[in-house]
Amino acid sequence: YGAKKRLAVALLYDPALDSSSAQTLSLLGDLRRAVEQGELRLYLQPKVALQRGAGAAAEALLRWQHPQRGLVPPMEFIPFAEQTGFVRQLTLWVFEQVAMLLAQSLARTADLHISVNLSTRDLLDPELSLRLGAILERYQVSAGSFCLEITESAIMDDPQRAEAMLNRLAQQGFKLSIDDFGTGYSSLAYLKRLPVNELKIDKSFVLGMQSGGGDAQIVRSTIDLAHNLGLTVVAEGVEDAALMERLRAMACDEAQGYHISRPLPAEQFLGWHAGPGAAFVAAP
Ligand code: C2E
Ligand code: MG
Ligand code: MG
Ligand code: MG
Repeated sequence: YGAKKRLAVALLYDPALDSSSAQTLSLLGDLRRAVEQGELRLYLQPKVALQRGAGAAAEALLRWQHPQRGLVPPMEFIPFAEQTGFVRQLTLWVFEQVAMLLAQSLARTADLHISVNLSTRDLLDPELSLRLGAILERYQVSAGSFCLEITESAIMDDPQRAEAMLNRLAQQGFKLSIDDFGTGYSSLAYLKRLPVNELKIDKSFVLGMQSGGGDAQIVRSTIDLAHNLGLTVVAEGVEDAALMERLRAMACDEAQGYHISRPLPAEQFLGWHAGPGAAFVAAP
């Protein structure tokens, strides 16, 4: 396999890929090189309060600045990394970058909360809580500044182990969020038991709200469900002002989406609050 062909395979993830094949090993090599050569980039997408002037928040989103392909989006390498287990290294890289950023910016922004996405592999790694704890210690930042986003499907993969890990992470002080809510098969019985703080409504429902096929009703019910369970609810995929106003009227707590801001390189994110972000502070 030439480098070019290998890459094409990496970017067209095939779930049937044999994890022991030479091909997979070389793809893994590409990703290892990405970490070692500093090709990973931390992007942050602002999350704003719709109901009251709350603190600043954002979601950390990973990008791969590839020497030939340019900026590669996560869906083109995370599923592969997930399959091989290498995603755990990526998660630790993201978590450490966020810890570093929080340590640098704490003096300036008192109340900055950043969400980090966890994969199924992370959730089932018995060492996860220990590894995250070591990073917190190294940078002297508190778990309470982080929100860990876990998808419904990651939880339902092995609900009992996931529940044990989530309890441990919650005890450690992390905020927890269920990501892409509504797209998986989460059981409401589990949802009630898990120590989560937030539901994130998947963008497919939010984007569908304008077209009258029932998505607006799903969004409304999810907001009510979250509030009845005492959880904060966030809408992702907020692409225009009208959508943002509708969500505000439906009592949705927070919004994230292109209307507010695209994901920004970490360096630009800190300046965003002082500039364009000032327009999104909810009325008290
Ligand atoms: P996610 O966690 O649900 O993240 C939200 C995705 O929606 C992001 O895509 C974001 O750029 C996109 N988005 C935000 N606002 C809008 C909008 O208004 N309209 C539309 N159409 N899209 C919007 P992105 O950055 O490409 O990430 C895709 C997925 O890749 C994430 O979905 C997450 O599942 C995964 N991912 C990204 N970074 C990481 C990471 O560090 N670790 C893990 N495990 N997964 C990650
Ligand atoms: Mg997420
Ligand atoms: Mg999401
Ligand atoms: Mg999503």
